[in-house]
Amino acid sequence: DSGTIPERYAEVLRAEGIEFEQGGHTASRVLDADEVVKSPGIPPTAPLVKALVEKGVPVISEIELAGRYTHAKMVCITGSNGKTTTTMLTYHILKDAGLNVGLAGNVGRSLAWQVARENHDVYVIELSSFQLENMYDFKANVAVILNITPDHMDRYDHSMELYTAAKFRILRTQTDDDYFIYWLGDPIVSRQVEQLQSHARMLPFSETPCAEAAAWTEDGVLNFKTSNEAWEMPRHDLSLPGLHNLYNSMAAGLSASALHISPEVTCRALADFEAVEHRLEFVREVDGVRYINDSKATNVNSTWYALESM
Ligand code: ADP
Repeated sequence: DSGTIPERYAEVLRAEGIEFEQGGHTASRVLDADEVVKSPGIPPTAPLVKALVEKGVPVISEIELAGRYTHAKMVCITGSNGKTTTTMLTYHILKDAGLNVGLAGNVGRSLAWQVARENHDVYVIELSSFQLENMYDFKANVAVILNITPDHMDRYDHSMELYTAAKFRILRTQTDDDYFIYWLGDPIVSRQVEQLQSHARMLPFSETPCAEAAAWTEDGVLNFKTSNEAWEMPRHDLSLPGLHNLYNSMAAGLSASALHISPEVTCRALADFEAVEHRLEFVREVDGVRYINDSKATNVNSTWYALESM
């Protein structure tokens, strides 16, 4: 680390007998590696990363590394907005269904740590485009792309094509046993899907009824229809408010269906899920004004949805 490693992490490294350096890099040692696991926060333009790539040293993400050592099923969730909420919601359903499930990626603990120490049967993983950049052979049994709107454009040369391509890497190793869940109403995702050569089973969702949708709403009823089953629940039973959370709930419900979770468990879990901190979290009412904490809305699109749902 070119900064200082917090003592609690340094202690773990010492306990495991792992050498480390802080306050700078010895480039020759890094360049000597057979393979490098890069933190997603380090951009590919960092001089040391460029030098590794030029030398032909493989640079992978921690998720890619962990994936080599487990046969667990992977539910991978990406998108510009709603990743954490959908990941937590899906995890909540699978946990309620009694599965031995781990939560990883941007939320929860590192996937590698859990694979090494806990050995879950299923993982629900929140993936950013930064993580996806360095994933190659890793396979998502269930892949979710919630939406694609401009975010982190500085890291992608201000190119939506590059950003979109990074998100779609989530599908690259899928086969016909796998599922791809996406929002039909997103123009960028839909356009990309048209050009897609994917063997995965598609489960798109939409606010309004439409022939291809595997989840949609009509007259206040939320409908699900997959090759595994068909079921419905009143929309107002969903615990999370707002149109964006309807989408997140559809994505989580379809992910559960792909893993053969019963509709009863899914409906119950979608109804009793408690809001994730800092996302449309009710704080209190003072003099008739309701205060809502939505401080995780960090781009224009997410803020629009948050305001719209109040
Ligand atoms: P992420 O992990 O992708 O940043 P979060 O689940 O943390 O997303 O939600 C962050 C904010 O984005 C929320 O507070 C809400 O305002 C907004 N949001 C959540 N889901 C969606 C969605 N599906 N579409 C658009 N905006 C959303």
